[in-house]
Amino acid sequence: MVKLDPAEPKVVEYSIAWESLLTRASLAIRGRYGNEVKQRLEQSTLLFATAFPRPLHIPEMRIKDILLLTIALAAPLSGPRVSAQAIATSAPLTDIRYEVTFTRVNGERRQVATAMTFTVGGTDPVLLSLPKWTPGAYEIDNFSRYVSNFSAEQNGTSLAWDKADPDTWRVRPRGVGEVTVQFDYLADSLDNANTWSRPDFLLFNGTNLFPYPEGRGFDFPASVTVNTEAGWKVVTGMTSAGPRRYAASNYHDLVDMPFFVGQFDVDSTQISGTWVRFATYPSGSVTGGARVAVWEALKRVIPAEVKVFGEVPWNTYSVLQIADPSYGGGSGLEHQNSHVDVLGMGMLGTPVLPSLYAHEIFHAWNVKRLRPSDMWPYRYDEEQPTPLLWISEGITDYYADLAEVRGGIIDPKGFYLLTDDKISEVEGLPPTALEDASLSTWVHPRDGTGYIYYSKGSLAGLLLDIMIRDASDNHASLDDVMRTLYNTAYKNGRGFTSDEWWSTVSKVARGKSFSDFFARYVDGRDPFPYEKVLPLAGLRLARDTARVPQLGIASLQDSTGLHVTAVAPAAGVKPGDQLISVAGFSADDPEWTQKFRSRFARMPEGTDLPVIIRRAGAEQTLTAHLHFVLSVGLRLVEDPRPSARERRIRDGLLRGVTQP
Ligand SMILES: [Zn+2]
Repeated sequence: MVKLDPAEPKVVEYSIAWESLLTRASLAIRGRYGNEVKQRLEQSTLLFATAFPRPLHIPEMRIKDILLLTIALAAPLSGPRVSAQAIATSAPLTDIRYEVTFTRVNGERRQVATAMTFTVGGTDPVLLSLPKWTPGAYEIDNFSRYVSNFSAEQNGTSLAWDKADPDTWRVRPRGVGEVTVQFDYLADSLDNANTWSRPDFLLFNGTNLFPYPEGRGFDFPASVTVNTEAGWKVVTGMTSAGPRRYAASNYHDLVDMPFFVGQFDVDSTQISGTWVRFATYPSGSVTGGARVAVWEALKRVIPAEVKVFGEVPWNTYSVLQIADPSYGGGSGLEHQNSHVDVLGMGMLGTPVLPSLYAHEIFHAWNVKRLRPSDMWPYRYDEEQPTPLLWISEGITDYYADLAEVRGGIIDPKGFYLLTDDKISEVEGLPPTALEDASLSTWVHPRDGTGYIYYSKGSLAGLLLDIMIRDASDNHASLDDVMRTLYNTAYKNGRGFTSDEWWSTVSKVARGKSFSDFFARYVDGRDPFPYEKVLPLAGLRLARDTARVPQLGIASLQDSTGLHVTAVAPAAGVKPGDQLISVAGFSADDPEWTQKFRSRFARMPEGTDLPVIIRRAGAEQTLTAHLHFVLSVGLRLVEDPRPSARERRIRDGLLRGVTQP
């Protein structure tokens, strides 16, 4: 996530909040839309890849090392897994109600006040836990650290309490009756998994504010009352149960429906037979033609996605969008009947937005309902890694592109362009297995592969779609896999396993085996078989070669600036130097790499260029020498003379049909 508050301007970290921008906003990497998001990405990850010829492969770990590692890991795992948290159980609670208070005074203090009231049957300790993460944001955030002024009372008398573990409060009731706990929550995280306030506005997630009784399951009903200024609005996906009162039948639903409270714009319309709301903060941030364009995009992508599954899974859907100048990018976080977008101002009105909406809305089916069994049901007290996140995220991203082309927002060329960007991204990163990348996301790998399961998973979706269509003579597609699993797993109240995924793919593809595809391209790290599969859909990869000017300096953006990580001989720069400017371009300029390339593309090899760095606290001007490398770009193109069968498959994929 990109996390910003007034005290920490420009802190940029790698994280899941770049959800879906990693791939699709690479539109902007090409400089066509020039927003800051992608430029930052370019600085942090792509610059390295372009500054030096990319490694074609990384050395495999020796087999012996792997065996030793396996043996070392096996021993501790053989014992029973017991943790203090797993056996802790709260006294049973009934009639659970939450109350959230956010007024002008709260906004000024950037604190939201929460109260939780429930009934107990005696003096047994009550254990109340706050989640460690918000599902969809695959990272531990420990929301309990934003809590202050915790208190508990019964009949007007304070109750004793302490911490049972870092995110669990232990409250000791004095007897039968109603207990209320209260706390303040720091609302200064501009992060769609967390809580953020302005003097007139609040975003909050239930995972931040609603403690649950430890060890009692999540199948309890609860209500939420919002206390706020008389003229302010409240928007949430929760079911209304009275004036500013909302109800959920279980905790999973309760914490999956974030809230906007305060002054913001909201309107709604019917799409695919249900009401869709669009709420935008600040007021006036999306008006006139820009607002019309958003509605037009939603009206095109939602029906295209509904068609894949054959049903609308929500009663209402809310798009909750914040635009703020302090945000150096854009991100979305999905929920079962809403999603929250947080955008830098530069993102507004760009073609990236329909793509972002399409991705987040497709999640309403794929991951919020059709979900790997490793994450079913959600748990909130620890990580929930799954090797199948490439299906939940990458395949979702494939369908975001398909929804755009099937809905007519982009033409087939636009679809190929989005695919090109994904291919280039994967080509520029170390070979990484989809299953490994899926598992690793929780630790945010720093080698650039942390989110490769988006782009590479999307490409796996394209290849599988083509192979299924080929095996079935375009009578079936990946759509059938998604719809079948949605009905067999989700509709039966459970998650799907890897075996189920692959057996469904095989069944839909008329019995074709995908075990080799799985072993080589999903569990393994072999390069994708584009040359073999794309022609089945009348497509192929063209290679373009370009001369790219470089100085031989690789760098990495972190929270303190842009730092040199590696240099070519004779550049005069050292690893660790902070780059201030390069050939007259400020390293703070998010577009400096593009500007550099376009200005020096035709200069002579060896031209001296000044590089200003900061080393040991002092600025120095050094001289680096311009040189050129050959860069090969891959481009998806149509076969001008496809066979009738290949054309059917290509058209079927782009139009969302399987008729021969
Ligand atoms: Zn996603």
